Amino acid sequence: MARAEPSDVTFSQGGRMLFYLVSPNETSFSDVGAVPRYVEQATPFFVGLLLLEVFVGWLKTGNLLFKVNDGTTSLSAGMISRLPNLFVRSLEVSSYIYVWNNFRILELPWDSAWTWWLAFLGVDFGYYWVHRCSHELNILWAAHQVHHSSEYYNLSTALRQSVTQQCASWVFYLPMALLVPPSVFAVHIQFNLLYQFWIHTELISDLGPLEWILNTPSHHRVHHGRNLYCIDKNYGGTLIIWDRLFGTFAPEGDKVVYGLTHPINTFEILYVQFHYYTYLWQQFVNANGIAHKLSVIFKGPSWEPGKPRLGDHENVPKITGKEVAHDPKWSPALQAYVHAHFLLLLCVYNDVFDTQYMLSQTTLLLMAGYILLTLTCLGCIIDQRPAVALLETARCVFMIGLHSLGFINPGASLLALATRVFGGLSALYWAVQILRQPSVETKCH
Ligand SMILES: [Zn+2]
Ligand SMILES: [Zn+2]
Repeated sequence: MARAEPSDVTFSQGGRMLFYLVSPNETSFSDVGAVPRYVEQATPFFVGLLLLEVFVGWLKTGNLLFKVNDGTTSLSAGMISRLPNLFVRSLEVSSYIYVWNNFRILELPWDSAWTWWLAFLGVDFGYYWVHRCSHELNILWAAHQVHHSSEYYNLSTALRQSVTQQCASWVFYLPMALLVPPSVFAVHIQFNLLYQFWIHTELISDLGPLEWILNTPSHHRVHHGRNLYCIDKNYGGTLIIWDRLFGTFAPEGDKVVYGLTHPINTFEILYVQFHYYTYLWQQFVNANGIAHKLSVIFKGPSWEPGKPRLGDHENVPKITGKEVAHDPKWSPALQAYVHAHFLLLLCVYNDVFDTQYMLSQTTLLLMAGYILLTLTCLGCIIDQRPAVALLETARCVFMIGLHSLGFINPGASLLALATRVFGGLSALYWAVQILRQPSVETKCH
């Protein structure tokens, strides 16, 4: 039998899937290979809602809720987190298929609405525990802290995802593989993630009775807070009932201050993704004895010798209400530069994911490297690192090279022209900055 190919989502499905408003009929498949790549196809809907939030926020408050430095970092993290999917099927789905193929004890019918609803609950229950463990085990927090590192709370924050999160989350869904077909699981694992996009907003205050059952913007604001009452609360994905059942629920109270208890104050994307692993390694090396070393890895991020498993939250910095988010000044010209290069990259990124099945592994590797390099450079530009001039010159030359050799194919001739002209001018600008390096360094310090 020929392997089924994933189909494209319709415009109507695309809009509804962000709110889990889909029926079992339209989202049931016999073959896991036929399950659409819903998350990959959601990009235009993410962008549409992001723009809508900025517009409505501006109408309501007169301010721009979206900061270019913070928002670009969040979107960059989201893009990086999906790069492994260019090479391998998600670890969650591939491990699930392995267990299903080898150890299933029952075969629930893939086309039954009962199976669909059971999988909906099963994935959400699994997510609650993935998420809870990601906060309560330091080694998993090293990945998940990426999502909490923004000091703002808007739709872009939802996309700030860790590239290493999947390394552990797959384990939590395996019990379902004993009876629920992979094609049903592959649908819900995507919708569960997509649902969590719209709840990252301050524009929706209260949803009445829905607050009892669903995870809502209000509940999830609490989850992102660093106020004492917010820490280690509201882990739910789509439903909030698990938190109510297992005692981790907290309603929204005092004004929430967002982000990590110790903000990282940088927009450098590789630092955002990996800094906690370095910190964890240092903690591990410095710990005395094997018991303390294991505790550093497997107890909570606030744990210290002599303290309970999750540490003492009374020790985290107190919220005064006067906290100011990290937002260093940078010139409008540099902001426009980052905007333009980010948009060009977004076109390339979409193109690579659209055509990934036609590209060789070498091309995919080259393009993934280019995407990573570009996002790293843009992060360093936002951070205004003096050393970025050399790196950015090299990247712009690399970009023109990829374009000339046909690896970057923007399709539209105007975009092709823009890539070459803009890339050339950018390389020239940064090359001049290298020559003027001493004066740039003086300015930055
Ligand atoms: Zn979390
Ligand atoms: Zn979140």
